[in-house]
Amino acid sequence: MIQLTIRNLSKTYSNGVKALDDVSLDIPTGMYGLLGPNGAGKSTLMRTLATLQEADSGSATLGDIDVLKDKDAVRRTLGYLPQEFGVYPRISAVEMLDHLAVLKGIPAGQRKEVVNALLQRVNLWDHRKKAVSSYSGGMRQRFGIAQALLGDPQLIIVDEPTAGLDPGERNRFYNLLSEIGENVIVILSTHIVEDVKELCSNMAIIHQGSVLYAGNPETALTQLKGKIWEKAITKAEVEDYQNRYRVISSKLVAGKPIIHIYSEQDPADGFGPADADLEDVFFAKIGGVEAAEAV
Ligand code: ADP
Repeated sequence: MIQLTIRNLSKTYSNGVKALDDVSLDIPTGMYGLLGPNGAGKSTLMRTLATLQEADSGSATLGDIDVLKDKDAVRRTLGYLPQEFGVYPRISAVEMLDHLAVLKGIPAGQRKEVVNALLQRVNLWDHRKKAVSSYSGGMRQRFGIAQALLGDPQLIIVDEPTAGLDPGERNRFYNLLSEIGENVIVILSTHIVEDVKELCSNMAIIHQGSVLYAGNPETALTQLKGKIWEKAITKAEVEDYQNRYRVISSKLVAGKPIIHIYSEQDPADGFGPADADLEDVFFAKIGGVEAAEAV
């Protein structure tokens, strides 16, 4: 089984922003969630792995391919769905996919079969003759997956794929992603905790270019067990609670804030134990950093 090994990857842009700060990750086959808020460095990491930009230092190996040096070998086995898929032409999906198949080097004799199979797989067969430019957001993303799957890649990278999809489209997209091969690596970069919760057996949380957690979601949840407490408060009280407790999230439920705090002991004061979910993990990790920086 193929594995992607990332070691000490760093990148500072010319404006001084350190987008990747000594990132090391072991990414096995299956769905891997790369979770981080906007600006965390996810796209920088994805684009580096997709051979579209250079890192300053560090290494990445995919099986026996040196990802940073042997870019052609990576490209032959990479499927990439970028955050912005770019211009959507007015030609039909089937023509567009055929064109992309040519670029991917799929032999003429196999192209029709490959393209048709992919359009069926992503459930666009009935819409294959329509222009991609006329597609809804969800259909575009499914088309994006079809093009990423051309050439049977071993590494598939999808960057923020569910942003802008409505709940129905998002569910259809989840189903599609979860069906994608068990023997390939799929890296899903997202700021949406639910994406990871639904799909990924392994994950990393990154923030300000650094890895704050890498492992499986269950272990992260176990670490928080018994340490998350919740209370319904009023909007006017939110700030006061933020000063007194380590508030990791505040959600409106029927218009009233319910806060989650992190506390190793029972805080009493009207708080009750809450079941930790992945959102708590995410906010506890990234909040922890902000708290540490404030000191
Ligand atoms: P994410 O995908 O998690 O939102 P990015 O990798 O896009 O994060 O960005 C990480 C940081 O690097 C951000 O602070 C962003 O503003 C900065 N950044 C991204 N691309 C560039 C660039 N080409 N030049 C300068 N700064 C950049």
